[in-house]
Amino acid sequence: MDKDVILKFDNVYFTYDEETQDGIEPHWAVSGVSLDVHKGDFIAVLGHNGSGKSTLSKLSNAILIPDKGQVSVNGIPTTDEEQTMTIRQHVGMVFQNPDNQIVATVVEEDVAFGPENLGLAPEEIRKRVDDALKAVGMYDFREMEPHKLSGGQKQRIAIAGIIAMQPECIVLDESTAMLDPKGRKEVMSTIKSLHDDLGMAVVFITHNMDEAVMADKVVVMEKGKILLSGTPREVFMNVDEIRRVGLDVPQSTLLSMRLGLKDEVLTPVECAEAIINDWK
Ligand code: ADP
Ligand code: MG
Repeated sequence: MDKDVILKFDNVYFTYDEETQDGIEPHWAVSGVSLDVHKGDFIAVLGHNGSGKSTLSKLSNAILIPDKGQVSVNGIPTTDEEQTMTIRQHVGMVFQNPDNQIVATVVEEDVAFGPENLGLAPEEIRKRVDDALKAVGMYDFREMEPHKLSGGQKQRIAIAGIIAMQPECIVLDESTAMLDPKGRKEVMSTIKSLHDDLGMAVVFITHNMDEAVMADKVVVMEKGKILLSGTPREVFMNVDEIRRVGLDVPQSTLLSMRLGLKDEVLTPVECAEAIINDWK
């Protein structure tokens, strides 16, 4: 086994169909997916509604178990029920709605919830909570009531609760989708610093192309399968295919193509540079 692989999907199939009949293919929500998440990866997962993204995320830490194939976390298959807690400690999950993830009435108590369940010593819990709150830029809010915070701040508290468990990988399922632009920015820069500063592997599911270009690797899902994967540049070059599955390419990419600029452009800055170079 490649020792840098934290999370491994090996030809994974999952169906929500309760009864499957021999000879009749069930409706696969995830269908033959193989994907390795290595230490330090920063991966964006894109796909139209119903393409299997949430199912994939829930398969990653034993919320769902594959019907065929195998998901393993640091070599432990998610079918090993005795290891479910260990698996969830290694791979943490953040969902879309922060209100459904916050359990306590004081910020720091909420962040302490996970480490307390690990049975750690009080000093260790204190340290982890403080470190996690600092990592998401919410330390000054530690004594506040979560419901008084903005959506972006609540989502950062939910992220702090996960990183206080010190996972090696964090999976975020459209965790910016319900936020306003300011909240999105806060959460994206928090996610980026988990990756850049703490070395955590990050898998984030998003609809936002400008968020996706921040990743090192982009995976596009369609009908439960991986349709495209590669660097943002490699993936977004497939404009027609991406649009066929109901997704957009980044506006900067589109603009530079319309202008007939040959450079492969992903961001507004690159677009401006391509225009300037074209003028010279
Ligand atoms: P995405 O997150 O990309 O929108 P999902 O993983 O939620 O996709 O859904 C993949 C497929 O599984 C879709 O066909 C969807 O209708 C189906 N599905 C998702 N959740 C359930 C569920 N709880 N029960 C039955 N079918 C589901
Ligand atoms: Mg979803």
